[in-house]
Amino acid sequence: MLTIKDLQAKVEDKDILKGLNLDIKPGEVHAIMGPNGAGKSTLGNVLSGREGYEVTGGSVQFLGKDLLDMEPEERAREGLFLAFQYPVEIPGVSNLEFLKASVDAVREHRGQEPMDSVSFMKLAREKCKAVNLDQNFLKRGVNEGFSGGEKKRNEIMQMMLLEPSVCILDETDSGLDIDALQVVADGVNSQRSPDRSFIVVTHYQRLLDYIVPDYVHVLAGGKIVKSGGKELALELEEKGYSWIDEEVA
Ligand code: ADP
Ligand code: MG
Ligand code: MG
Repeated sequence: MLTIKDLQAKVEDKDILKGLNLDIKPGEVHAIMGPNGAGKSTLGNVLSGREGYEVTGGSVQFLGKDLLDMEPEERAREGLFLAFQYPVEIPGVSNLEFLKASVDAVREHRGQEPMDSVSFMKLAREKCKAVNLDQNFLKRGVNEGFSGGEKKRNEIMQMMLLEPSVCILDETDSGLDIDALQVVADGVNSQRSPDRSFIVVTHYQRLLDYIVPDYVHVLAGGKIVKSGGKELALELEEKGYSWIDEEVA
């Protein structure tokens, strides 16, 4: 589904990713943990093609195609979804319009007609309910004045509507209270399927009690330095990251 080989990238002339390898098969959930500044958000940004992130080496295959060769919009249309650590506000554009335009772009790419407004409204309302957001959030500007938790729920709703193949969730749990965490986790779990994969970036083991990963990786110094099963997250929670530095050294 997604094969990352020896990926290297820099931001503002600073090398951040330094030979990152990761192989994600359909249906798998991979958690990425690691110290602050390790390059976790950079990985998500590089994969989604965000401006300012320069790839200096390595390759990424996505569903058999060269991901790095695609424009950001094309990556999204092909089924790559990134839920941002800090979702952006787009004042003046209603959430509903934004969601419909995104969904219609994906549908067009798949050779499907745009959805009619009434059906889309019905669908969007269902998804609002699924993430416990009031329907008023569809009328408001995209993320405009949303609380941290509401932004994260909105991201999950967007994911549900877009039905991507690979979902990258960057610290979707940060700043959430337990109830919101449960809603977000339920949303993700409801979307798990044999042909959809997830990369879940988190600082806390807690999220992984709700979203149980197949693999846990530690990203440090721009590389995956250790991989294991879900028990690795517990070990990290208990021992921190310093023992890994020692092991790597
Ligand atoms: P993480 O998500 O693991 O905490 P990031 O990927 O956000 O780490 O950051 C990795 C490093 O890259 C940090 O040292 C950070 O300051 C730097 N970095 C990330 N984005 C930028 C940027 N736009 N400009 C300058 N430095 C950046
Ligand atoms: Mg961070
Ligand atoms: Mg980050």
